[in-house]
Amino acid sequence: MQFEKSDRLKKLPPYLFVEIDKAKKKARDEGCDIIDLGIGDPDMPTPAFVIKALSKAVKDPSTHRYSLDQGMPEFRYAAAKWLKKRFGVDFNPEGEIYPLIGSKEGIAHIPLAFINPGEAVLVPDPCYPPYRSGTIFAGGEIIYMPLSEKNKFLPDLKAINHHLLHKARMIFINYPNNPTAAICDKKFLRDVVNFAKRHNLIVCSDAAYSEITFDGYTAPSIFEAEGAKDVAIEFHSLSKTFNMTGWRIGFACGNASIIEGLANIKSNIDSGIFSAIQRAGITALDNYDKHIKSVIKIYEERRDILVQGLNAMGLYVENPKATFYVWVKVPPRYTSATFAKALLERCDIVATPGNGFGEHGEGYIRMAATVDKKRIKEAVDRIKKRLA
Ligand SMILES: *Cc1c(COP(=O)(O)O)cnc(C)c1O
Repeated sequence: MQFEKSDRLKKLPPYLFVEIDKAKKKARDEGCDIIDLGIGDPDMPTPAFVIKALSKAVKDPSTHRYSLDQGMPEFRYAAAKWLKKRFGVDFNPEGEIYPLIGSKEGIAHIPLAFINPGEAVLVPDPCYPPYRSGTIFAGGEIIYMPLSEKNKFLPDLKAINHHLLHKARMIFINYPNNPTAAICDKKFLRDVVNFAKRHNLIVCSDAAYSEITFDGYTAPSIFEAEGAKDVAIEFHSLSKTFNMTGWRIGFACGNASIIEGLANIKSNIDSGIFSAIQRAGITALDNYDKHIKSVIKIYEERRDILVQGLNAMGLYVENPKATFYVWVKVPPRYTSATFAKALLERCDIVATPGNGFGEHGEGYIRMAATVDKKRIKEAVDRIKKRLA
């Protein structure tokens, strides 16, 4: 039998990666040597000390039961300690920090806690897709904030339509940014906080890439902006920082009433993170300092090879200061889709067409430096020989 999908599912924006997914599968099946720069998933293994902590924890039967409510206090305290050390901000582990089954889960769920049908959420375009789907599932409307090169891929808050703004209750921001690899400074974060206060908005700051930064740049937390705790929640993830995407662990921090709303939704949907994984997460956060430099160094080397290679063949990209992405403007005769197709068909390289992240991503493709140096060099060589 074929069952009719719900209206909320039908309202999702079209999935634009279908064609590239199909072409990728076909090329693989034909035995092509594909270089996959399409996925935002670290290729490096989780650090050995984290795996060791998990193996120990998993043998302790006290980790085998439900981890309800706020999860293990020790994980929340470790998160608070890390936040304090990293950003200089204090959070009360009882009420201002909440564990998440990966930050995507919290990001997708938060509109359910605060958005009523007819209310709106400000969402960057292009963006990480759960901002859109979470809003739609809650019955909310989306007000897009275009990100453009002209504005350094920061939303222009002053340009947001005032007739729509009265419906808005929430704004998503994401710096360092996926997919554009843009960064923001503290002034921008202060502007967002002030804007949110003026218009009674909840700020959802997605900080998944806060630790993948280069050239000495350090990404700020929104809580370094004065008054942020009145209006903001920030989503942190162990996924990219510790190569732990498959483990599903992250946390939210911020305004206690925002955290409480998210917690109310979650307590009706999930039953927490496996305690053994929370223990491994504590070990990860406690050992952040000795781990992070080696990760940054590897992505920095890859970025240099990719960016220099692309620039040398006239595909101009700015050297990103953060994330493992490179946001490449497609040559004039192409669209996002046709350039991604050409890369795949003529170079056996997978890249993500920018328009899949939103209308304003058209004209770009995203390349992820999640393969090793040798493969990145090979990718650059292939593009130079076969496309440029
Ligand atoms: C990878 C990613 C996340 C989070 O991932 P989790 O594994 O769910 O913690 C969040 N936001 C952005 C923009 C990402 O790219």
